[in-house]
Amino acid sequence: MAAQMVEKRIGGVKVQGYSLAGEETVIAVPELNVCFDPGRAPAEIIPIDNLCVSHGHMDHAAGVAYYLSQRSFVGNAPGRVIIHRRFAQDVQRLMAVWADLEGHPSPGVIQGVVDGEEVTLRRNLVLRAFDVRHSDGALGFAVVEKRHKLRPELAEHTGPQLVELKKQGVDIHVHREVSLAAYCGDTAVGDYLYLDHVRNARVLFLECTFFTQEHVTRARAGRHIHVRDLREVLPRLNGEHIVLVHLTRRTGLGEAKAILRNTVSPADLERITILMDRPRRHPRPPRQPESRRPRSNEEAPTQRGPKS
Ligand SMILES: [Zn+2]
Repeated sequence: MAAQMVEKRIGGVKVQGYSLAGEETVIAVPELNVCFDPGRAPAEIIPIDNLCVSHGHMDHAAGVAYYLSQRSFVGNAPGRVIIHRRFAQDVQRLMAVWADLEGHPSPGVIQGVVDGEEVTLRRNLVLRAFDVRHSDGALGFAVVEKRHKLRPELAEHTGPQLVELKKQGVDIHVHREVSLAAYCGDTAVGDYLYLDHVRNARVLFLECTFFTQEHVTRARAGRHIHVRDLREVLPRLNGEHIVLVHLTRRTGLGEAKAILRNTVSPADLERITILMDRPRRHPRPPRQPESRRPRSNEEAPTQRGPKS
């Protein structure tokens, strides 16, 4: 059964997502026409034209082929998959294998990017990739609006005068960037958090996989964020909303929330949303005993090892 997506308005923006470590991570922001990781490609992401893939681990990337196939099936224009350049060919090969299996191709634009590179989403709106600290080639993405305002000292100039200045090569605008949203994928903390488009993002989707003391080693080994890291990180982030994603199932949500409350300042707690914290409408299915649960792979080694 497909995972039940959470839907929230965060900072005035609709977010639809599902994110649990080792299981599935998909975060759609329809108003920005962007989805961060496809997870298993739930129906909600199919109409979205731009799919950013943070890294190749199956719980984040499994739905790439299905996303492209479904877009074709429902008659949408080919989707665009944005992924680190080193993986672009892998995705092309994956789609070629699926084309053989299905007997027809699912068209898509596979766009490889590297740290700092931008992809235009629409006029004055770009997606900017940045390196994070997880597996090789793992990326985060920020959606950045570029605003241009006439320089105040030119306010009295007439249209023809401004045209003339432009002809002379004068930049008549003041340029400003507003980061509307940023997603860091799976990652340990690192300097990327202090890039302007990350630390100032209005809505920052930040993984926080582990919460308990016994999981500190696991967090370090798998290059994930432990809640204790937030104490150092949060005071340096300016965003209005920090959305925690990719929590482990090893710690119950209630316990994780209690630990969070005891770890971060009340002011920071105010701006934190846990994506998967939702009113429970349906009784939870019975948990499988530990021994029968599929091995969680969230402690994956970092170098092309088992996936997380
Ligand atoms: Zn991972």
